[in-house]
Amino acid sequence: MGEMSPRRTPAVPDPVRPRQPGRAERLAVVLERDGATCIWCGRELGGLVAPTTEHVVPRVKGGPSWLENEVAACRRCNAERGHRAPVDWLEECERRGWRPDAARLARALTDLQAAIDRAGGQRRARPHLDAQLRRLRRRLPGAAGPDRRTVAS
Ligand SMILES: [Zn+2]
Repeated sequence: MGEMSPRRTPAVPDPVRPRQPGRAERLAVVLERDGATCIWCGRELGGLVAPTTEHVVPRVKGGPSWLENEVAACRRCNAERGHRAPVDWLEECERRGWRPDAARLARALTDLQAAIDRAGGQRRARPHLDAQLRRLRRRLPGAAGPDRRTVAS
């Protein structure tokens, strides 16, 4: 038989989101991105303070299993937060006298919102995410970045 015809295989972009990395890889990426401290209590991760990643928007609120929905936290905070909304838990951390990283949370929520805008879908996560961002912006004028509807640069 003759050779396969040298027809071009059209480079159709894969509409499916690329495979997400495994757990260890995700943790490494998140630590590299955010620094090796717990977003909630600020403790240095490593050694006795076991690093984990957790979902910013909880899975029960429709949060996707994407890196954009993950932040680094210590195992204790991760377990204690449970399914609480991120700003609820942030405020609980403050009541306990910890120094949660509100700026990092604002960045994570903003990045997640942008990722959802790009990928589409996530209808359950969107209203929760929007409400959390509004709460953060009310708390921290400026810290949550400009509203994306008025962003200039
Ligand atoms: Zn912690």
